[in-house]
Amino acid sequence: MITVTNVSKRFGDFTALDDVSLEVPDGSLTALLGPSGSGKSTLLRIIGGLEFADSGSVVIHGEDVTGVVPQKRGIGFVFQHYAAFKHMTVHDNVGFGLKIRKTPKERIDERVNELLKIVGLGGFAKRYPSQLSGGQRQRMALARALAVEPRVLLLDEPFGALDAKVRAELREWLRRLHEEVHVTTLLVTHDQEEALSIADNIAVMDNAHIEQVGGPRELYDRPANSFVMGFLGPVA
Ligand code: ATP
Ligand code: MG
Repeated sequence: MITVTNVSKRFGDFTALDDVSLEVPDGSLTALLGPSGSGKSTLLRIIGGLEFADSGSVVIHGEDVTGVVPQKRGIGFVFQHYAAFKHMTVHDNVGFGLKIRKTPKERIDERVNELLKIVGLGGFAKRYPSQLSGGQRQRMALARALAVEPRVLLLDEPFGALDAKVRAELREWLRRLHEEVHVTTLLVTHDQEEALSIADNIAVMDNAHIEQVGGPRELYDRPANSFVMGFLGPVA
């Protein structure tokens, strides 16, 4: 479980997060859904340790990680624009985190092959990132994030740069991956359809606040206020 308690963050005079609290249940695929500028990425970056809050705390699986560096938080990250090592093969990209942890080569090979199979890139180990499609590259990014067996997976619009058809495929695929691997996942998206179709828990954000948290059905049927109703309502 990820527990965010009373987190606030200002950039100069601008309040990006205003006393935000959130629980991401163990094993859930929770979506952080809201319009552009609402504070989603800022909250995700604070959970991941890439940014520090002005006040409040972050607890991951019972450990207070508020002042802990990202590498020690047990987190896997995937961003919209994936920064792969261009000179490394897919195999070496996915295995990189294990290599720097001094994992024996046989164990790395075993784990990488297993992960590439799970993300549907079984035959792609020897390719370079430039020889993959955008969707394949994001799947490689997910495999890389999962390689070190993170306690939580943080995804910031991982499919945002892809076209609608590929995005829909990857969405389905993430859902299946989650059912298989079951790592606690927080997915940032501004896409209502994406959140409603794959998340089992959704936190709706607007204007530095979390407006409501609940299952897709609950939010859709019983929105807490007019913002949630408008944002989740039928998309034109
Ligand atoms: P999007 O869907 O467009 O990615 P978001 O919900 O992820 O939006 P954030 O990136 O969290 O939004 O930004 C929230 C607000 O904080 C925005 O108004 C943004 O301009 C501001 N902000 C974020 N980072 C900084 C920064 N380093 N300096 C100043 N303002 C910032
Ligand atoms: Mg963002």
